[in-house]
Amino acid sequence: PETGIIPTGEATGILPARDTSLRPITVIGTEAIREGFDDLCLKQALNSREAPGVTELVLNPDAHAGYGAPVGCVMVSPTHIYPGPVGVDIKCSMSLLQTNVHKDQIDDKRVRRALIEAICERTPTGAGKGQRSVQHGREISAELGQKICVEGASEEVCAALGIPFEWAARCEDSFHLGHDRTQEALERRFEKLCENNQFKERFPKKVDQLGTYGGGNHFGEAEVVEIEDNAAARAKAEVFGLKHGHVAFLSHCGSRGLGHDLATGQFRVLEKMFDRWGIPYPANDKKLVYAPLGTQEANDYLDDMAIGANFATVNHLLINALVLEAFQSVLPEVEGHLVYFISHNIARHEKVKDKFQWVHRKGATRAFPAGHFALKETPFYETGHPILLPGNPRDGSVVMAALPGAEKSCYSVNHGAGRQMSRRGAFRNLEQREVDHGLNEADILFNGRNYPRDEAPDAYKDFSAVLESVEKADLAHTVARLRARFVIKD
Ligand code: 5GP
Ligand code: MN
Ligand code: MN
Repeated sequence: PETGIIPTGEATGILPARDTSLRPITVIGTEAIREGFDDLCLKQALNSREAPGVTELVLNPDAHAGYGAPVGCVMVSPTHIYPGPVGVDIKCSMSLLQTNVHKDQIDDKRVRRALIEAICERTPTGAGKGQRSVQHGREISAELGQKICVEGASEEVCAALGIPFEWAARCEDSFHLGHDRTQEALERRFEKLCENNQFKERFPKKVDQLGTYGGGNHFGEAEVVEIEDNAAARAKAEVFGLKHGHVAFLSHCGSRGLGHDLATGQFRVLEKMFDRWGIPYPANDKKLVYAPLGTQEANDYLDDMAIGANFATVNHLLINALVLEAFQSVLPEVEGHLVYFISHNIARHEKVKDKFQWVHRKGATRAFPAGHFALKETPFYETGHPILLPGNPRDGSVVMAALPGAEKSCYSVNHGAGRQMSRRGAFRNLEQREVDHGLNEADILFNGRNYPRDEAPDAYKDFSAVLESVEKADLAHTVARLRARFVIKD
């Protein structure tokens, strides 16, 4: 791009917009990370910064080129909603289930194999797969599916699916309301969607995908929890419900086919509107299509996003219930509880710079520190909420907690390590034998014969450099490390 990054500190920098009347982009990353951003990623950051109604843009250390906006950015607007930066996997999220299984209990490979099998009998991986494809799946009626879309993880929905309702308190959001902050708006929107025969016919199949991971980057992973050896981390780990030396289960997935259909439907509608009205796309990039708040288009998008988000929420909670059931089928007397469920692909209405605005997190995670007003009614007011950050199976993952410094990144941190190789690049550059060997060496089991090469640890950035950026910028600190023992992926 025409402008360079001006370093302002060890782990933060700015990228001035081409229109110098705009506030610059806040860049989180050590020098090594900042130098690693690809040109397309920086160009997308500039495009997103200069798009109509945008007041803030943050580029996180895990950033890489995405569709329209980079994956790994935060885009803030009080006046416009952008479907692209939410993405096609509406409310793609992380969740963590803590069990009372001691790490030694899963040392034996046969136990881990049995766990993989028991989990895969309840929650399939693979694009398009549903509960009906597995032996011990749940059957969910279309009627209940509709209730899930409208209510999210309500008491009735949880009861119907065998999800402990206490887990709802362990969600960043356990339900989402419509554009006017009512549930009725979602009921009406759902009826409207069903006027489309194709949507109506496909819906039962989408409902069957509740409690499943889907393909590609989504995964379930058994972890050994290692709490950091300092008083602050220990105190927060206690509130989070983490158990040192015990097994936890980390899940990554989103709203499956339903979210995908809702998002692509919205892209189609908004593109048509732009064409009809002859409005140019920001930076001529269709993926930066938007709707001004207050219009019918914005209302419909917000409603669809909420429906997809409710679906994703129940999807994750159901997966956790099924995973717990799978553990119990192999190791008697296992107990487990949800540590947290938090999204990295969603727009939320939050207070930024003293004003309520829409915060689009595109591959970014909310990071409210202790004392943040929005945590008042939650168990995390004194600690900040848990931040669940997957890295890669070989180098581990972490649970962090935000610090007051997170204000400068619009109360956000990264969402993982972030890709350094495209899928194609990974197939080209990485040897299957070495990928599998690397995981075998680390004694990490995986389902399937070969580990997906485009998902190999080396396809992602150096996770420690990403975390160093977050910590040096004072955004958050590490509470616990998660060391993988087996991975379930595509
Ligand atoms: P997304 O696909 O949502 O953009 O990326 C989520 C993040 O998950 C990636 O940036 C990467 O760091 C991390 N990740 C991807 N696959 C795995 C995995 O199998 N295990 C763990 N622990 N992390 C992963
Ligand atoms: Mn996803
Ligand atoms: Mn994701």
